[in-house]
Amino acid sequence: MYFMPAPELVSVKCPQCEQHATFRKSIGIANVEKVNRPYFEKSKDFDTFYTKHYGRYQYEVWYDTGLGNNIDNIRDLPDGINPKHFKPSSYSWPLRKYSRGVIACNHCTLRRRINIDWPKQAYFTVEYKGKVLWAYNREMALAILEYLKNSSRKKLSQSARNQTSYAWLSNLPTVFQTKKATPTVVRKLEKLLG
Ligand SMILES: [Zn+2]
Repeated sequence: MYFMPAPELVSVKCPQCEQHATFRKSIGIANVEKVNRPYFEKSKDFDTFYTKHYGRYQYEVWYDTGLGNNIDNIRDLPDGINPKHFKPSSYSWPLRKYSRGVIACNHCTLRRRINIDWPKQAYFTVEYKGKVLWAYNREMALAILEYLKNSSRKKLSQSARNQTSYAWLSNLPTVFQTKKATPTVVRKLEKLLG
């Protein structure tokens, strides 16, 4: 199986104006040593809490890059804490249903910390027979469109497999690829892409 890793910025529907907005995953570290916890608890830049992880509580520190600051600009991190240790809530495919991040909209200037409800909040989604086809961003939606419009899909799938960046297309659910489904899905995708 080939999966497309979630890009840094994901296209979402703005909860305020319903236009195209972006979601950027926040970054965090777990199990920070006790001695370093007061620093993060006092800092306005970080959020700290315990979460249950495989039945055990773990101490987490989070940083919301999407709010506008880069963690590399924070110069007084405790000894032994490196900005590189902070990782996105899920940095591989698929984007977890409730990944933490920041939603930013250029249409209505909304900028807010959220736990994304994916793919419910995805901007590029097409529903067909109760099944949801989604794309992380415009580029991915265009790749799907091109793929569906190509009648000799099998051939493309093979060549796509050779190009790692589009290998994930071979996993596109069959329900969207039937002779009956394709025209509807293509039309809806084209409308979304404008
Ligand atoms: Zn908006």
